[in-house]
Amino acid sequence: TKQTLANIAEVDKDINAFINVDEEGALQRAKAIDEAGIDADNLLSGMPIALKDNLVTKGFKTTAASKMLENFKPIYNATVVEKLANLNAISVGKTNMDEFAMGGSTENSAFKITHNPWDTNKVPGGSSGGSAAAVAAGEVLAALGSDTGGSIRQPVSFNGVVGMKPTYGRVSRWGLIAFGSSLDQIGPITRNVADNATLLNAIAGHDDHDMTSSNKDVPDFSANLNAGVKGMKIGIPSEFMAAGLDDDVKQTVLDAAETYRKLGATVEEVSLPHTEYGVAAYYIISSSEASSNLQRFDGIRYGYRAEDAKNLEELYVKSRSQGFGDEVKRRIMLGTFSLSAGFYDAYFKKAAQVRTLMINDFTNVFKDYDLILAPTAPTPAYGIGEDISDPMTMYMNDVLTLPVNLAGLPGMSIPAGFSNGLPVGVQLIGKPFDETTIYQAGNAFE
Ligand code: GLN
Repeated sequence: TKQTLANIAEVDKDINAFINVDEEGALQRAKAIDEAGIDADNLLSGMPIALKDNLVTKGFKTTAASKMLENFKPIYNATVVEKLANLNAISVGKTNMDEFAMGGSTENSAFKITHNPWDTNKVPGGSSGGSAAAVAAGEVLAALGSDTGGSIRQPVSFNGVVGMKPTYGRVSRWGLIAFGSSLDQIGPITRNVADNATLLNAIAGHDDHDMTSSNKDVPDFSANLNAGVKGMKIGIPSEFMAAGLDDDVKQTVLDAAETYRKLGATVEEVSLPHTEYGVAAYYIISSSEASSNLQRFDGIRYGYRAEDAKNLEELYVKSRSQGFGDEVKRRIMLGTFSLSAGFYDAYFKKAAQVRTLMINDFTNVFKDYDLILAPTAPTPAYGIGEDISDPMTMYMNDVLTLPVNLAGLPGMSIPAGFSNGLPVGVQLIGKPFDETTIYQAGNAFE
């Protein structure tokens, strides 16, 4: 832990992956484990881990990268944080992200810009950009992120590491600062597939605090790591390979398909016909849920409070106007509009119907296939400042990741190639609650 903290102090000067490092707490926890003795059978015992800063940590600042929560010290731990602590993993700090997880480059943080370790002029992706960069830069071996529309898979693709968005309900969301409650999942970010499976086992399972967490048994996700892919049926959705995809990214997917064929799998083209409506449906649903979830930041109960308000209404308006950044305000307006009495049928309801069609698309493919192979993001990491001023471009970039959230499926991005020296990831999408097969195929590729 001491070495990790020293390394972070050195490396993070250039990367800015962390918002707050918990030096004192980490050393205290390490000391307690030293005194109790390391448990050799527990791979996580004494393991330094980083947490995205939308996971609440008791007594330690949790900001969601927002001015609204700049000085917020939660009074409890998220279930995933508690589970890791019980396994004696050591949380060393909280990582940078887009404010309230809204964004895809970590440039929407109220506090700092995180740099991609492969080229510090490039973004680390987002919104879990700090967690992905911290793992890629070797600051920690593992981190947790959250994924509402791609926020684990896209940054790990940009950083050449491994990230899993588990099935909706696989991991408790208790203590995850909510963005889109029907889409959000917490998941592990690691350097390799085997570590990822271990970490998912550590955080998965039913939780009485989260009624959407599943009662299904949690299997040993590492059980089939070395079983190979012989006889497996893998589909590549043609809609995901369409125009707009960077040539090198496309080639990386085709190469990955070839690798799987050589390893004994069948790889064929499949169709997810409603893919083109995904971005519109996702931004309506996620923003609607966000507008509701963010109502609690009212300047009264906790978080930022404007100083010069003359009455209650002004206190709400000023606290929210000053506390939230531009992207968060854009989503609140979009969501409030979509849910309003006059427009609900035209927007929210329509988006919910599209979501059902997209779920049916996946269900049809999974009748005949074990897994879907797809690009994770349309491009490799782009330049800091390049896309952020154009929200539509930013939203379109999520087209390949957000269908998985709308359908509640598990999806993992693994490093598969390079484009001009920058890593390119591919995505493996599985049947509901079948993370084990994703890990099996991911490990075979490595
Ligand atoms: N980029 C997407 C968005 O801005 C996804 C974010 C996420 O998964 N948290 O909504």
